[in-house]
Amino acid sequence: MDNVIEFNEFTVPAHCSNAETCCWICQKGNSLRALFCQHCGAIQPVRSIDAFARLALDRRIDIDLEVLDRQYTSLMRTLDPERFVIRGLGERNYAAKQREAVEVAYQTLRDPLKRSRYWFALHKKDIEETEATNPLVSELRYELDSAAAASQCDRVAQKAGQALEQGVMGLIQALRGQNWQLANAMLIEVDGLESILNNVRSRRETLSGPDQPAEGSPYPSLK
Ligand SMILES: [Zn+2]
Repeated sequence: MDNVIEFNEFTVPAHCSNAETCCWICQKGNSLRALFCQHCGAIQPVRSIDAFARLALDRRIDIDLEVLDRQYTSLMRTLDPERFVIRGLGERNYAAKQREAVEVAYQTLRDPLKRSRYWFALHKKDIEETEATNPLVSELRYELDSAAAASQCDRVAQKAGQALEQGVMGLIQALRGQNWQLANAMLIEVDGLESILNNVRSRRETLSGPDQPAEGSPYPSLK
């Protein structure tokens, strides 16, 4: 069996200039974004492209969510496992990997906060989390820590929720204006507010709220 040529998908073929974009079946060159080989039609492995390119969108901080949803749905339809049942194991595996990559890209871009973090990373900006604590976050944290009733926790949650909504808008605006320093400060604020919202529930559980029945309570009811 000396004439058997072993197939190895990791072999770099001589006639494909960029190894990263060679088709794993026919070994011909493709564009980095191509889901399917333009020569033989085989599905391609997941290439290292950014989330915007993955969903065939322009790279912008402001994205049209309707367009994003449409691109996602259409890609998922194209990559539907049903379409690959008659294909080989290799193609089925690559289709599954492509679906995963599309899903991750979609989740990253769909959420404004995740998109903002991703935007920082794309522009090679490090987030300096060591900056002095945000006054609003400190105030709310203090309010939560000293809350004596569940209703006070709810008030903190409400304030933090509203501030978070505004914070995300401010963050996107700062990124739009390429004001990295302000964006960094906004991101720290937003992170702090999120952590407060996460803490509200556990704090609330340690307090007896007005909505709980007084009957059987070890504490005397307030008059
Ligand atoms: Zn091919």
